Amino acid sequence: MTAPPSIQPFSPPSLPRWFLDQQYSPQITQLETGDLIIPVTIRGGFLAPTIQELIAVANPLQFVLQLKRPALSTLALGKGNEIWGWSLEEVDSLEVTCSQLGLAYSALYWRQRLEQSRQQAALIGRISRLLNSTLNPNEIVGRIVAELGHGLNCDRSILVDLRQERVNVLATWDHPERSLLPLQQSQSHQNCWQDVIEMFLQGGASYLEVSLNEPNPDSIQVWLRDIGAHGVLLVPLFIQDDFFGAVALLSYQHPRTYLLDELQTVRHAADQAAIALTNAQHYQSLWHRKEILRLQNNSLRMEIMRDELTQLLNRRALEQELEQLSSSTAWTIQPPFSIIVCDIDHFKRINDTYGHLAGDEVLQTLAQRLQNQLRHETPAYRYGGEEFVIILTETYLEKAAEVAERLRQLIRSHPVQSKAGSIQFTASFGTAQQDPRGDRSAWDVLQRADAALYEAKRRGRDRVESLDLP
Ligand code: GH3
Ligand code: MG
Ligand code: MG
Repeated sequence: MTAPPSIQPFSPPSLPRWFLDQQYSPQITQLETGDLIIPVTIRGGFLAPTIQELIAVANPLQFVLQLKRPALSTLALGKGNEIWGWSLEEVDSLEVTCSQLGLAYSALYWRQRLEQSRQQAALIGRISRLLNSTLNPNEIVGRIVAELGHGLNCDRSILVDLRQERVNVLATWDHPERSLLPLQQSQSHQNCWQDVIEMFLQGGASYLEVSLNEPNPDSIQVWLRDIGAHGVLLVPLFIQDDFFGAVALLSYQHPRTYLLDELQTVRHAADQAAIALTNAQHYQSLWHRKEILRLQNNSLRMEIMRDELTQLLNRRALEQELEQLSSSTAWTIQPPFSIIVCDIDHFKRINDTYGHLAGDEVLQTLAQRLQNQLRHETPAYRYGGEEFVIILTETYLEKAAEVAERLRQLIRSHPVQSKAGSIQFTASFGTAQQDPRGDRSAWDVLQRADAALYEAKRRGRDRVESLDLP
């Protein structure tokens, strides 16, 4: 379907005042220039009793035609029935032609209005859908300016937050084919926005349409002039009855007036944006609260899982890990996992010789050394008083024994420098490997590693014992 030709808005001020003021009679009238003004009927009858009303009704319809006076040579002279240089036949036929024109125009006009309404409805639908598909306030304001700017074919569309003293342009959309200079914010524009706020809040204006044609510019017109624009449509934005700001649709190339439909669309879109922003605000504060709770929970969980003295994961954490490894999905992962259990030799003696605090220092230093020797994703657990456990995932027994041996040598060759003096000590190790078929759970593996440790103690300490699969 081709778009109907556009009808330029009829502009009453181009008619002389005496014409506008006179009582209307549906007749052809001649201007001082000799031009004829011919009211055109719509749907077979005149709608308005006075010319003002007719013009008001007819405004977008171009009801009134203004015909230039013909050159003298073309006047139908000599027929005797002339009015102001036009023959009566001409006037009659003009009247017929004009009434047909009126019908044609009105058909065209309504078609155009229908098409515009359809476009406005589509725009509103699109804006609703877009706004409902996100809970991110930045995205919402970005979308609203883009859709309105694009949908109403503006040069630039902006959304301004007017809640604080300092005006904040939250989003800007520029027509892609017009290369406009970026919007500069200057202090002098503060007055403009102050006036806008007043007109919306005290004046109760539901929109403001301002263009640059007045001789004594007000603050908004000064702003327009400064930014190089011709006109602006401003629509207020309220969020739950609280004034939020305004949407400004700017025209830079031509002065522009908005049809009632378009004004309604902008209003509707502003309302939609307000609802979307309210939802986003609620969601964000809810999300924020949930996030705080989650973090609190996390840190609480971490506290429960950590050993206070060594900062290693504790027995509770180890138990959880063993449960996890015993679960059906983790149990069959290949290669199998291995467990190392480490126990300080004659720790009681260390306590007895150097004191309990020095014993604590030994535990802390050993814990640090163990963890430093392991990869980040392999934690060491403090299993009991001077007993530690390491779970090596996807590791065969042989490799686990190697790791244990390296740790054993490290411990015996690096005395701990405690406040009570240098403490040389050793540790014994037991290792065991998971048997996915023979073992019932990871607890069985730990038990075997423990038995291996017992064996290491029995065989004189400061050694690694591995218990092979049963
Ligand atoms: P073995 O070589 O057989 O392992 O002998 P051991 O002395 O290391 O083992 P035993 O189980 O007899 O003694 C462990 C000691 O560890 C007893 C306990 O007082 C001490 N202990 C347990 N927890 C802590 C702690 O947090 N700090 C200190 N300083 N000592 C602790
Ligand atoms: Mg011990
Ligand atoms: Mg012990």
